[in-house]
Amino acid sequence: MADRRPLISGNWKMHHDHFEAIRTLQKLAYRLTNEDAELVDASVHPPFIDIRPLQIVIETDDLPIALGAQNCHWEDKGAFTGEVAPPMLAKMHVSYIICGHSERRELFGETDDDVNRKVKAILKHEMTPILCCGETLEEREAGEAEAKVERQVRAGLDKVKGDQVAGMVIAYEPIWAIGTGRTASSDDAQAMCGTVRRVVADAHGADAAAGVRVQYGGSVKPTNIKELMTMPDIDGALVGGASLDPDDFARIIQFRLQP
Ligand code: PEP
Repeated sequence: MADRRPLISGNWKMHHDHFEAIRTLQKLAYRLTNEDAELVDASVHPPFIDIRPLQIVIETDDLPIALGAQNCHWEDKGAFTGEVAPPMLAKMHVSYIICGHSERRELFGETDDDVNRKVKAILKHEMTPILCCGETLEEREAGEAEAKVERQVRAGLDKVKGDQVAGMVIAYEPIWAIGTGRTASSDDAQAMCGTVRRVVADAHGADAAAGVRVQYGGSVKPTNIKELMTMPDIDGALVGGASLDPDDFARIIQFRLQP
């Protein structure tokens, strides 16, 4: 971790109705200290239906947790049944939006082009995209991991200005490590997050590479976060399963205190 501010994000996927979401958020907030808020940015990414109730709780109780979304469309409005537009999320003070998560790419057919449109739409509405990239096990075993991640990062950031990239987040998530309990070793995670930063430097310049925050995602737990966060190109984590448990997620945010 360099001098970029760490960002730990919880992707709740399709879990928690709005009552469960509020309870989970309140339990998480109860476990966090002022020192945590000074040192680490934390965000939660609930299902769309939970965003408005969580916004009310966060703002009423002044909780040190940013609101995130898991996806959005790229248009501001229109005939797109079932979709949610970026300005709707901005209106609820959403700060971060995940785009191009591997589950959206694999299960819902999102292309690099779609992801790039989403990145640009999110930036247009002054929110921060968390652009996801990562390889399958087959691609890793075939020695194609770097090329795949390079392609996803270049395409996802196509025609985005360097100063905007500098404020963004990119999550490197090896697909074989998501929800499997199998984490990349901290050296492998560092190597791939370093690749992400090199690609950003090449495509958007040194300032963009120095500013962009790179998260690692894939079975992050309280027991492995501390070591991951010692790596120079890892600035945070995108956490799925462990973020559903407020105890575990608080301990991940408090990575500095873990044994
Ligand atoms: C994710 O959902 O992006 C993720 C990394 O999940 P998990 O932490 O459960 O592997």
